[in-house]
Amino acid sequence: MSFYDVYKQYKDFDIQNFFGNVESQMIQKALNVPNVSEYQFLSFLSSRAEPFLEQMATRSSQLTRQYFGKTIQLYTPMYVSNYCENECVYCGFNRKNKIQRKKLSFDEVKKEAEFISQTGLKHILLLTGSSRAQSPVGYVKECVKILQKYFSSVSLEVYTLTTDEYKELIDAGVDGLTVYQEVYDEVVYSQVHQAGPKSDYLFRLDAPERALSQRMRTVNIGVLLGLSQWQKEVFLLGLHAQYLQDKFFDSEISISLPRLRPAKGMFQPACVVEDKSIVQMILALRIFLPRLGITLSTRESAQFRENLLSLGITRMSAGSTTEVGGHTAIVDENKKNVQFEISDTRSVLQMIKFLEQKGYQPVLKDWMAI
Ligand code: SF4
Repeated sequence: MSFYDVYKQYKDFDIQNFFGNVESQMIQKALNVPNVSEYQFLSFLSSRAEPFLEQMATRSSQLTRQYFGKTIQLYTPMYVSNYCENECVYCGFNRKNKIQRKKLSFDEVKKEAEFISQTGLKHILLLTGSSRAQSPVGYVKECVKILQKYFSSVSLEVYTLTTDEYKELIDAGVDGLTVYQEVYDEVVYSQVHQAGPKSDYLFRLDAPERALSQRMRTVNIGVLLGLSQWQKEVFLLGLHAQYLQDKFFDSEISISLPRLRPAKGMFQPACVVEDKSIVQMILALRIFLPRLGITLSTRESAQFRENLLSLGITRMSAGSTTEVGGHTAIVDENKKNVQFEISDTRSVLQMIKFLEQKGYQPVLKDWMAI
């Protein structure tokens, strides 16, 4: 069994017809049951649920407090390479883009790690572009060994790996994996992933499961909002998270909802996802899956992140850069080689202060290997 079997059940589901039959009483009822069904979750994503956003927010905040307290885990991304073999039309690292390609030496990795660790962060997300040739598993493994000396948790966001490769990296000290499907709609997936290994939809879809089968501690999945109709994408994302939670109940499953940001190539989103829609999807996901981690990255503005704080978010990035070696390099603003532009540029210290002022506990470390 794979999540693909669940996907197949819903891929031709007529969501507009379903939404046309949603009634206010159904939403009201769904807000008062202890366990929300798949279709109740979907009804929360309909326009009929918009007048209920305040009630949904109350429920969502209460569930978030109950399961996570007033805590926000902080982490930062660290890019070690921007070589890529893929042609994702929305990404600045697309192999067709003429950007300066770079891969950090192990000394440079150490320098970045030292610099970031001085902020107090203990959770790091290691990213490469997707190139097995330039960033083979052996290179990633060496980077992990360096990072382990500075951080208590090392997560990866790299090209998708085989089951044995995930095991090798878990044995080397990796405890978290981020792998976004980007878009669940298989047709749109093939349109926006035009060439390279990432165009293998199924291999990517099953990657979280391969890693979890080897006892990956945390897995973060996501959709790139703007590539396809968000309601159906978020519905499938919620079902995927539920599937993984049910199957691997001793691992932590979380989701991200990144919105398309400007990047080299000037790809235009297929649909615009408004702020209020992001609010609605976060509330719906929290009510459907109360234990789900929800990450909000620096793609979003400082003000928007502030507004979402109490509604269901459990994890935020801080002091981010999407440039290779960007934490320690002096970046020429005119020659940026970023994967995408970030919006919230606050430092880790500023984020810590902001969270404390809001009555939240910023969590810099919540796990270590023993
Ligand atoms: S999204 Fe990832 S795989 Fe696609 S072009 Fe960018 S770095 Fe490469």
